[in-house]
Amino acid sequence: MNQISPAEPPEPVAIATLNDYLYCPRRFALHRLDALWVDNAYTVSGTLAHEIADDPGYRQTADGARIERALPLFSDKLGLVGKADIVEFRPGPDGREVAVPVDYKLGRRHKWDNDDVQLCAQALCLEEMLDTAVTMGAVYHVKTHRRRAVPFTAELRTLTQNTILAARELIHADDIPTARLKPQCQGCSLHHVCLPELTASRLSLNAAYQTLFSVTP
Ligand code: SF4
Repeated sequence: MNQISPAEPPEPVAIATLNDYLYCPRRFALHRLDALWVDNAYTVSGTLAHEIADDPGYRQTADGARIERALPLFSDKLGLVGKADIVEFRPGPDGREVAVPVDYKLGRRHKWDNDDVQLCAQALCLEEMLDTAVTMGAVYHVKTHRRRAVPFTAELRTLTQNTILAARELIHADDIPTARLKPQCQGCSLHHVCLPELTASRLSLNAAYQTLFSVTP
């Protein structure tokens, strides 16, 4: 796995793609390397949720918090770029502001989504940009108006950093991983393009090849 060199800033990975990598590295590579994008209900609902919070600006709340919308984020150390739907800045006990990133989701939490890694990546960016500790974030579900608190534990930070490294390694390898049929395939918007039932098995692939290219005398 590539190590981050202080002399050479790592190539930026988009925060929004980390969830994709954890869902399926092949899906990440098809999106990132082949620019192959197909929408389904899940992707459209994700886009709509972010559009709700996508109007840049800020406002002050009655309880003294400052709310920044569509805040650009970066980390030179980790090689990350992206945007936070919402960052709440609340007065902290030592007089410094405490930053809390909040990610918007339209529906309920999907089984294979890893929203927490994406949120933690936002926190790592904020820590570097603001030179402060960011210990807690939240996922806000628009339809149910439910807010789930996400503590940035050591385990979540390690998973996030390892995902960034693995995603960058796959970009550098410039190679699309082979399809592997798994439960995630059922809700994947690339299912009918990826054809995991066919391509994941060499026997099925050979049979399909024979059917397509066999020459009859
Ligand atoms: S169909 Fe399955 S293997 Fe193919 S990209 Fe989607 S999740 Fe990955």
